[in-house]
Amino acid sequence: MRPDEAPEAKYDRLKRKLQDSILSEYPNPERKGCPGDLALRELAKRSADEGVEADANWQHVTHCSECYREFLDRRLKFKSAAKRRGQVVWAVAAAAVFLVAVGLFLARRQGGSLRPERPQNAEVAYNKSTIDIPEMARSDGERANRPIFLERKPDELTVNLPVGSKAGEYEFQLLRGDGLIVKAHANAEIHNGTTAFTVRIDLSRVEAGQYSMNVRQVPWDWNYVPVVVR
Ligand SMILES: [Zn+2]
Repeated sequence: MRPDEAPEAKYDRLKRKLQDSILSEYPNPERKGCPGDLALRELAKRSADEGVEADANWQHVTHCSECYREFLDRRLKFKSAAKRRGQVVWAVAAAAVFLVAVGLFLARRQGGSLRPERPQNAEVAYNKSTIDIPEMARSDGERANRPIFLERKPDELTVNLPVGSKAGEYEFQLLRGDGLIVKAHANAEIHNGTTAFTVRIDLSRVEAGQYSMNVRQVPWDWNYVPVVVR
């Protein structure tokens, strides 16, 4: 990039670029799925060791221009308040938030169809499988779908989305209760009328049982699909 650039200048430049891209690339004027002001304030106050990465609200905020704008505003206010109180917590929190954001940004820029967010062991052999989501439910209460079965092994999972689903960036999560087990981003493409994306997940160490799979096209609402891991 710019080898002679001072680290701070590079940090500032990348941060600026990242912020601009989030602020412009995820318009959400209808405020679909927005977590609200309280959640934004919570995120702005988070300290580094609490780890926002797996936070569904944070996932939303980095994929919603409106929320991100408000988040930056809250953070600025929190920062100046913290400064008045003489706290240094902020700098650590900001660095952590930024690193996570850079990770997301770089992952997105790679543009591949396969972008697991956790490092994967290159020697793991991934079983290839395909699941079909005939329709998606907007909430737990609408779970009319029969569960989808997943195997307890490393899986290169192709997810066929419901008919009419748009191509583009999708997020994938597997949850047990409220606990996030796996998450991934992927680019869905349309082939022969079927919209599908592929994610690599390794369930070899999770317990068998009932899970829930959350899928959404960024930045829209999550859809819920019951899953049984066996
Ligand atoms: Zn939002």
